[in-house]
Amino acid sequence: MQRLSAPYIAGATLDDARRTVAQLNAEQKLATVDVLGEEVTRAAEAEAVALAYHAALDAIAGDHLDANVSVKLTALGLEIDLDLCRSLLATVVADAAARGIFVRIDMEHSACTDDTLRLYRELLEAGRENVGIVLQSCLRRTLADVGDLADLRPNVRLCKGIYVEPPSMAFQGREAIRANFVQTLDALLELGCYVGVATHDEWLLERTLERVAALDRDDYELQMLLGVRERRATELVERGQRLRVYVPYGDRWYEYSLRRLQENPALAGMLAKAAVMRILPGVG
Ligand SMILES: Cc1cc2nc3c(=O)[nH]c(=O)nc-3n(C[C@H](O)[C@H](O)[C@H](O)COP(=O)(O)OP(=O)(O)OC[C@H]3O[C@@H](n4cnc5c(N)ncnc54)[C@H](O)[C@@H]3O)c2cc1C
Repeated sequence: MQRLSAPYIAGATLDDARRTVAQLNAEQKLATVDVLGEEVTRAAEAEAVALAYHAALDAIAGDHLDANVSVKLTALGLEIDLDLCRSLLATVVADAAARGIFVRIDMEHSACTDDTLRLYRELLEAGRENVGIVLQSCLRRTLADVGDLADLRPNVRLCKGIYVEPPSMAFQGREAIRANFVQTLDALLELGCYVGVATHDEWLLERTLERVAALDRDDYELQMLLGVRERRATELVERGQRLRVYVPYGDRWYEYSLRRLQENPALAGMLAKAAVMRILPGVG
């Protein structure tokens, strides 16, 4: 699995992430750095993840990298102790603010949505400006969430959502998820929000570019995952688009890789075939 996941992860260490971000910046791409640390089960693990974020912020500032950070609240202890999570998040956001760095709070499975939105609102109401949220177009609640957040004029990354959710919570078909993506994007643009449009879906990229051109907007960016549609990302940058790449690093690569492979079973099949061919070189 580690070998299969290599294209999607900068590496196990912060130095790997620094090198990857420097390379992306040299290609005029921005980055967002994610410390892999989902599935923490003890407070000490959440505290270790927070320390890793402080180190990442130090590296971004020290190397003058054009990057921000993306944080999963479960990695900061959301499912262990809400108060612990709140205080670790507050220190990461304060440290980032002192260095002029933005923090994106990733959105996780639907049981985390309310708490994630609540902690986001608390930070903005406390005067923090360097923090943004993620909304998932697969969720039926998302347009209502845009309405609830409207008074904050949130900075939003919009994505389809990667977690498997029941039909009662989430649209299941590709077209319904796309339609809700476009509707949510329109609602966010209408509110005057800065939007990070996170998708590799060509149809959605085209709808996004049409809309921002028609509205003459430049308060948006495109976002893609490390290792996915890199040629298309380069083309978009060459056409003058602001594009940010999600750069995960750390030794907790297993859960992240599993999700990437679940998303793209064809890739898993191809890699499995390649592995079999190496074991049985005479076959195929
Ligand atoms: C920057 C960024 C941040 C994200 N943050 C979150 C988050 O906080 N919460 C959350 O739930 N989800 C997040 N996601 C994941 C997102 O919700 C989708 O699950 C993911 O982007 C796939 O949907 P898509 O819109 O790219 O379209 P898809 O239709 O899935 O993909 C379109 C095409 O892109 C290519 N592609 C897509 N994925 C892969 C892959 N893994 N390997 C190779 N090719 C691939 C394929 O050619 C595919 O046909 C994020 C995605 C990005 C890009």
